[in-house]
Amino acid sequence: MSVDRELARQHLCNLARRYARPGPRYTSYPTALDFGPLSAGDYVQQLEQARRRANDPWSAYIHVPFCAKRCDFCACSVIASPQHERVAAPYVDDLIREIELVSAQIGSRRRLAQLHLGGGTPTYLAPAQLERAIQAIAREFLRDPEGEWSMELDARATTAAHIELIGEYGFDRVSLGVQDLDPDVQAKIGRIQSAAKITEVVRGCRRAGVGGVNFDLVYGLPGQTLDSLRRTISGVLELLPDRLAIYGYAHMPWAPGRGNQRRIDAAALPDPQQRLELLLATRELLLDAGYQAIGMDHFALPEDPLARADRAGTLMRNFMGYTVRAGADLLGFGVTAIGEVGGAYVQNHSKLVHWRQAIQRGELPTARGLVRSREDELRGTIIAALMCEHRVDKRAIEARFSRGQWRFDERFAADLAELRGPLADGLITDDPAALTLTETGKLFVRNVAMAFDQRLRDRRALATPAPTPARVPIAAARKAASPRFSATV
Ligand code: SF4
Repeated sequence: MSVDRELARQHLCNLARRYARPGPRYTSYPTALDFGPLSAGDYVQQLEQARRRANDPWSAYIHVPFCAKRCDFCACSVIASPQHERVAAPYVDDLIREIELVSAQIGSRRRLAQLHLGGGTPTYLAPAQLERAIQAIAREFLRDPEGEWSMELDARATTAAHIELIGEYGFDRVSLGVQDLDPDVQAKIGRIQSAAKITEVVRGCRRAGVGGVNFDLVYGLPGQTLDSLRRTISGVLELLPDRLAIYGYAHMPWAPGRGNQRRIDAAALPDPQQRLELLLATRELLLDAGYQAIGMDHFALPEDPLARADRAGTLMRNFMGYTVRAGADLLGFGVTAIGEVGGAYVQNHSKLVHWRQAIQRGELPTARGLVRSREDELRGTIIAALMCEHRVDKRAIEARFSRGQWRFDERFAADLAELRGPLADGLITDDPAALTLTETGKLFVRNVAMAFDQRLRDRRALATPAPTPARVPIAAARKAASPRFSATV
């Protein structure tokens, strides 16, 4: 390694050590932690408003919560059930009813720019069951020829018949949870999948006409070393995925719904310094292989639409992550699914039985959500600009939100004061016209975005224990303040 490169690496290491803290991924602002009760009637009102925007395209997300067995590291909302016959068919019946209920509200055959099936494991459903759900979407919506249909795949649960279906319905992109190819690491996280099976699925999808293949990798897993990671990256590069997302494993066995992580041997986890080295090594290997970095943890081949959008400053972000084709409104179908409609976030019941009962009563299965205030819109726009354009155009924000009442630098004086450290560290530049992330600063975009997250500040202030003799231990208060966030680095 050259001296310059080693110095740059050490500099990044130092920065990452200082800036690693729990924080949201900002697939939305406000985040799901701020959601409160929201009724089906509220959702109907939002749909009614959205319905009037007749020409805007829609996006849809279908959540399939089932997995045959829960992996030990998993942090997703999952129902582990080996009883496929008992759960899958009724779920699809209810899913179709939900799609029809929503469609009845917005009018059928609306243009659909984006469809994503995620989970859980969408291919837990048998091909014929999956096809019924896809057909319901195809019946109720008009597929935008410029749009994108995508599906998450677990190679272990993907059959040749699934791949045939994916080809038949013209899915544009598949996303595979690869995590790590090392057999020892796989054993330690309770997820054994061979490189051969992943290769078979990727090649099958490409032969079936799927244009884009995404891989998810995870660093910070038990037993991971720099050597094992290099072998994983080398195996991954042989398959040349178009996009990669690199997630840090967040070991939070105390958090609600993460009891499965108690099966992970905490002693086998890399320490913070090793985690950082794993992340930086992954990054270097992918950059050396010609990938373009999008923020800290996303990578795409230079000709991939995501990379092109990043260069053009036209990236967008929604609950599915970075995208180039966000519809104005996102409909969420399935248990726990989140949508975004008419300025509101809407989440379905997270308990299967409640979701099902609502649908069977002919009601939308809405449980929680949040109608964004003007302040949320303002801050959400700033955070989205940082995440997607890496720059906040202060004049544009004033033109849209201020109505001549305030100037950006005055309105956000307290927020900008929080950014003195990142400014001194060269992560941002700040001039009267714009706040801009530097190339290094793009790696710490979540830290910069957090400075504008008023709700996070409020929540942390509430969770900070009062200085009394009976106060809550600091560690417990930290957990309460950031119960589900992963480290920013
Ligand atoms: S990691 Fe994926 S396959 Fe494993 S339990 Fe979670 S959602 Fe299911």
